[in-house]
Amino acid sequence: MRAAVYHGARDLRIEEVPRPRPAPGEVLVRVHANGICGTDASEYLGAQMYPLHARHGLTGHHGPMIPGHEFAGRIAEIGDGVDGFTEGEPVVTGSALWCGVCRQCRAGRTSICVQYATVGLHRDGGLAEFVRVPAHIVFRAAPFGLSDDAAVLTQPMAIAVHALRRGRPRAGEHVLVLGAGGIGAFLTFALAQHGAHVVAADLSESRLAVARRLGASETVRAGDAGALSAALAEIGFMPTLVYEVTGTDAGMAAAIAAVDAGGRLVTVGIAKHPIEVDARRVTTKELEIVGTNALIGRDDVPEAAHLLARDPAAWQDVAPVAIPLERIVEDGIVPMLEGRAAQIKLLVDPWTRATRPTAMTNP
Ligand SMILES: [Zn+2]
Ligand SMILES: [Zn+2]
Repeated sequence: MRAAVYHGARDLRIEEVPRPRPAPGEVLVRVHANGICGTDASEYLGAQMYPLHARHGLTGHHGPMIPGHEFAGRIAEIGDGVDGFTEGEPVVTGSALWCGVCRQCRAGRTSICVQYATVGLHRDGGLAEFVRVPAHIVFRAAPFGLSDDAAVLTQPMAIAVHALRRGRPRAGEHVLVLGAGGIGAFLTFALAQHGAHVVAADLSESRLAVARRLGASETVRAGDAGALSAALAEIGFMPTLVYEVTGTDAGMAAAIAAVDAGGRLVTVGIAKHPIEVDARRVTTKELEIVGTNALIGRDDVPEAAHLLARDPAAWQDVAPVAIPLERIVEDGIVPMLEGRAAQIKLLVDPWTRATRPTAMTNP
């Protein structure tokens, strides 16, 4: 089969590799498409997670790796001991793996498992024609009625659903999403569907236009604390819950300044370096700062698929095209690294030879 294989920093090759066979307890998925995100881009520059040089404790992977953790497809082969799937049926997964025996796993908090791992980050993933996946993290997609392309968005939506839960939003609550690209777009939609009154902030007018389509009541074009607070005051919006999705110093400062006293702040964006927090303001405003990591497959994946299906057409502008495997570096990763990606989410279709439009709604 054809696959994108990561060999080292800036060395991602399209290769012919043996088609995998599902181990007992696994299924083989024929990949429909695989979305790429900032994590793939930063790993491309130099692997922080891919187990290239040492065997991974949970997955056992060691060596060159096929990335891709945002995929959906159809069951191609069923491993020994697996029930509940039929060949050819559409499936989704959150790609999340956990040990099942640590204290956090036993408490149901598998997203903070001591050995938390991801298909496509710690073992071969979906940037290939086929991927093998443990069956217990795979969900039948037919009940949700998603198109094959829309189903590919389930994993990033599940990340957003997990972040949403961590913030405990109430219906009608005033919520600010800081950073409307990537997960911020999915969060905006999920929060609006939850009945929150959402305002999205970003520097890009095109991202804000998408945020409005996804359910933001209003949007503000602002980045730093001063501009954001002024813009929010102008529209009379005082958020009691802020999702900080940018993972930047400016974003964190703006979030702490913008949130109402007594409010909650969920740090969604993963900072590349330690970020300074104005602890004095956190104290005097009695803020709660809440972390969120990855997702809990059992809870967040079905909810994500359910949410996507509520308005599939909304995703057309988020992920308008799917590119061939051969274009992944030039048309996918490099534009993302240079901050000039033309779309919020880019899909990679291992079967297409030319960039094609996506189809988010069922024909
Ligand atoms: Zn991702
Ligand atoms: Zn665990």
